[in-house]
This record gives sequence, C-alpha cells and structure tokens, in this order.
Amino acid sequence: MPSLGQGAGRAGSGKLVPSYRLTQPTLMATLTDRVPQNITGKYYVDSTCIDCDQCRAISPDFFGRTEDGMSFLKKQPATSDEVAQVEEAMTSCATASIGSDGE
Ligand code: SF4
Repeated sequence: MPSLGQGAGRAGSGKLVPSYRLTQPTLMATLTDRVPQNITGKYYVDSTCIDCDQCRAISPDFFGRTEDGMSFLKKQPATSDEVAQVEEAMTSCATASIGSDGE
C-alpha cells in the first residue's frame, strides 16, 4: 500500500488527492458583498474586484465601472449569446469577483 506522505491525503471517496485540494478554499464571489451598483439579477460583481478591466474589455455591454473603481453588472444577459459573454468574463476574472447566484 502506498504511503500518503506529506502533501497528500484522501478525499471522501477514498481517492488519493494532493493535500492542497483538501485545504485550499474555492474562490467565488459572495452575494452579500455585491457591489451596490449591480443591476438586480443572477450575475453580479462583489467587493473583491481589483478593477483590472478584464470583464469590461470582454463584455463591455454588461459590465460598467463605478466611480470608486469596481466593476458592476449594468445589464443582465437575456439570450444564450449574452450569457456566454458574461460567463466568459466571469471565468476570466482572476479574483473570482463575478458571481452567478444572485436574484
Ligand atoms: S475581471 Fe474581475 S477583478 Fe477585473 S474588473 Fe472585472 S470583476 Fe473586477
């Protein structure tokens, strides 16, 4: 039987996985920290935004910039093409500041 050693462990399934997967938190936007300028709806930007401009460059029809330097959803996507644009921006955000669990 192989030794688990340092830096490895077993997940719930019993499968051997690197330990960073057991301890590293998953980055994701937090609805309670949403930027107030977001329009109501599924997608939003939270206060962890670092104003890198990536989402606004990818999807300028949907993302705006607040006066204090954060992005926000200025329009919710309605079609599948629009959803794809917003989701591309979401997956490109280095700080995972764009959420999709809004209402
Ligand atoms: S890509 Fe993310 S960090 Fe960059 S401006 Fe957009 S929400 Fe902010």
